[in-house]
Amino acid sequence: MNSSISHLNAAMQAVATACHVTRAVQERLQEVTALTKDDRSPVTVADYAAQAIVALTLHDLLEHSADHLIVGEEDADGLVEDESAIVRRAVVETVQHWRSGITEDQVLEAIDSCNHDGSANAYWTLDPVDGTKGFLRGQQYAIALGRIEDGQVVTGAMGCPALPISQDAPLDVPDTEGVLYAASRGEGSWEFANCDPEADRLRVQTRPGQDGRHWRFCGSVEKAHSNRGDSDRIADEVGNVGDPVRLDSQCKYAMVARGQADAYLRLPTRAGYVEKIWDHAAGSIIATEAGAIVTDIHGHPLDFGHGGRLERNRGVICASPDVHGRIIKAIEHLGIDAESRT
Ligand code: AMP
Ligand code: MG
Repeated sequence: MNSSISHLNAAMQAVATACHVTRAVQERLQEVTALTKDDRSPVTVADYAAQAIVALTLHDLLEHSADHLIVGEEDADGLVEDESAIVRRAVVETVQHWRSGITEDQVLEAIDSCNHDGSANAYWTLDPVDGTKGFLRGQQYAIALGRIEDGQVVTGAMGCPALPISQDAPLDVPDTEGVLYAASRGEGSWEFANCDPEADRLRVQTRPGQDGRHWRFCGSVEKAHSNRGDSDRIADEVGNVGDPVRLDSQCKYAMVARGQADAYLRLPTRAGYVEKIWDHAAGSIIATEAGAIVTDIHGHPLDFGHGGRLERNRGVICASPDVHGRIIKAIEHLGIDAESRT
């Protein structure tokens, strides 16, 4: 099997397995909270368990150790302290539901194996639960795994376990089927119902033209993650833009990829924030392979060649080709974040 196919297959398998596990934790939010007396603990459990499962699955399916390098969001430091014993137990039990017999040490080791710093030529980057606030609200979140080679994203798999397959359904329907997205460079972007890599695959594509309808933009639910005032000013400048859709996580990239939204705007809220590669690798290739243009707010391509962060970029604009240029022009005209323009 050529390596890009085996990478894609392994990534889809890893993400799909993690989706089933995080979905089970999300369905037991109250139970986990009651056990730990900590409102955030369900996402902590889901986060660590998903990271362990993705790392272990890549180890199982890819034989070369160079294919096991992962820049992950989490390390196990916070789990080993005495006061974390209940959460640690819950993480290990969650992983054991999938693989009985695995020991606590093996789980912690798998979590810590995702500690690569992004200095190699090729590695994975993982956000085991992207959109933690959405997860806790019972809304959207994503498991996002991207592969970077020579500073470019070449493969991405993203599970959106709370995203309805039907684009006509409201975004937050309980017990929804979930959707898995997968893309590799030059091969298009694909959707799999029920987060099931064995399901019939459907090619996704961005929304063409405008046809007299309003443009539809999407952005973060969290006000601290994207500047809403700037987003409104851009919408006014572009013209004919409807009310924004707000959802957590990289599911926003999927919204553009599958033509449910025309653009995803991520506009800086403060001077010092640098975007993390795991928040964008998988989503960006899924959107580009579906026909979207993904750049930073000044129109520069996202540059994944600088370790764990997008050091050379500010914010993100992901949009169909029909509207991307208009958004970039509006940002320039309005002088948004002009001090960071190079
Ligand atoms: P979203 O669900 O799209 O709102 O984004 C969730 C991600 O936002 C998290 O994974 C964080 O890494 C990231 N994040 C945290 N603080 C900021 C910030 N000030 N600006 C942009 N992104 C942030
Ligand atoms: Mg994230």
